[in-house]
Amino acid sequence: MTYRERCDAKLERMQERQDAGLISQRFPEVSSIVVDMEHNRAGVSAIHLMRTLNFSSCSHAYFRVECLNKDCGDCTDGFHLDQVVAGMIRTHTALKEGELKCEGNGVTSRSVNISYKVTIRYNEFFPRA
Ligand SMILES: [Zn+2]
Repeated sequence: MTYRERCDAKLERMQERQDAGLISQRFPEVSSIVVDMEHNRAGVSAIHLMRTLNFSSCSHAYFRVECLNKDCGDCTDGFHLDQVVAGMIRTHTALKEGELKCEGNGVTSRSVNISYKVTIRYNEFFPRA
């Protein structure tokens, strides 16, 4: 990827973030969203990385999480959790866990297991479904 392409990709993501709108607009019943990501690999070059992303009602409804795998050549575009989050809100789910897989494919990176956990808090004045 050239420098120019990288810039274009970055601008595109900023635009996507803008287009996504605010959580308070798209999901007024949501109070906050927390995404926990955990990268795990057992063995000689074991890694254990954790990352927590916090979204409030005034954040953009844009749930793309970048891969934490160093030198990752697999998921350069990150992970899209928009569908997961939207599905949870539709069914008024508070907690959802899942697994993702990164193949690495970089010079030094190898495959890792990624588990994620999405926790959504809802505004209390919205009746539960
Ligand atoms: Zn990756």
